[in-house]
Amino acid sequence: MTLILDPPWLWPLLAAPAIGSFLGALVLRLPRGEAIAWTRSACRHCHQRLAVRDLIPLISWAAQKGRCRHCGAALGFFYPGIELLAVAIVVWAAVALPRDLIWPGCLLGWWLIALGAIDARDMILPDVLTLPLIVAGLAVTGLIAPDRLPHHVAGALAGFAVIILVGFAYRRLRGRDGIGLGDAKLAAAAGAWVAWTGLPGVILIAAGSGIAVTLLAALVSGDRALTAKLPFGPHIALGTWIIWVHGPLVVP
Ligand SMILES: [Zn+2]
Repeated sequence: MTLILDPPWLWPLLAAPAIGSFLGALVLRLPRGEAIAWTRSACRHCHQRLAVRDLIPLISWAAQKGRCRHCGAALGFFYPGIELLAVAIVVWAAVALPRDLIWPGCLLGWWLIALGAIDARDMILPDVLTLPLIVAGLAVTGLIAPDRLPHHVAGALAGFAVIILVGFAYRRLRGRDGIGLGDAKLAAAAGAWVAWTGLPGVILIAAGSGIAVTLLAALVSGDRALTAKLPFGPHIALGTWIIWVHGPLVVP
């Protein structure tokens, strides 16, 4: 009975579109140092203030066929995209995680969306997001599996160290910076969430998805994609999410 009235995924699912809107505002405004409101408040083209009915995530976008009600400008896929991602996190967590872990899972997933999207757009991973994610990973571990905390502290340290070493090697090989301190802090957060045992899997998935995206970009836009700077944050975020939800990669 309780399961029907109160499935553990119901509240995160209801909250997800609004959280997605907030993440969208965060992604656009944080790198510019702008104040972060809960939702977008004006059309970016005609600057007409948006009414409440324009701000309902996903639904108002679909109802207006992706266009501003005032000037008809295309609103783009950024907000509905990030709102759908926020919903997808809840669905993924609800399917793959035990009920006690759905909320922490959603918290991690939503946080990683913000970091990945900011890095993809602006090539930065802000400290105000990476550093608290380290603390959050250790805090969640302390709550759900306190005896495993030392492994997660070791994971945070190892994640940071590995990326610093990879960055150093990259600089020696290519003669330029490719991997930054932000990536190292995000990898520390990954280690705090998945423990040192999960880190190889995170790095493997991140490298695989980074290479796949680079090759895809090279197919679409030619060879310069191979030498273009690649934001690594979205790939570390993807690896962290998959390993936290599904566990460390096991070699058979
Ligand atoms: Zn407009």
